[in-house]
Amino acid sequence: MISKIEELCIKKGLRMTEQRRVIARVLSDADDHPDVEQVHRRAAEVDPRISIATVYRTVRLFEEASILERHDFGDGRARYEEAPESHHDHLIDVESGKVIEFRNEQVERLQREIAEKLGFKLVDHRLELFGVPLGKGERKGRG
Ligand SMILES: [Zn+2]
Repeated sequence: MISKIEELCIKKGLRMTEQRRVIARVLSDADDHPDVEQVHRRAAEVDPRISIATVYRTVRLFEEASILERHDFGDGRARYEEAPESHHDHLIDVESGKVIEFRNEQVERLQREIAEKLGFKLVDHRLELFGVPLGKGERKGRG
C-alpha cells in the first residue's frame, strides 16, 4: 500500500525514487510535527543509505508542491506535517516542546472579521500559542 503523501506526489507528477518513497511514508506516518533530523532518523531506520541532505532536499520539494506544511514553533527548527485537509492551529508547550492541535470557531470568525474590517477577504492564517502547563494551584485559582 502506498502512503498518502506518495499518492499526492504521484498526482502532482513528482518522480518517486525508493528513498523519496521511504521519506514520504515516514512523513505520512508521523502524528507529531517532526523536524528534518527526526525525519532522517526514522527514514534511516528503514534505509540507512538515506542521508540528511536527501531528507532536506525531499522535504523542500514536498513543501514546494504544497504536499507538506512547514511550521516554525519558536525553537528555530523547521517542523513539517502533511498539509491538512481541514485547517487547525497549534499550541506549543514550551517546557516539553509538545505540540497540541486545536480548532476554535470563535477564533476563526474573529480573524475573518478583523481582515474584513481592514478591507480584506481572509485566505489563510497561522496561529501559534505558546504556553506552560498550569500548576495545580493555578488551576484551582489559588495561584
Ligand atoms: Zn498540526
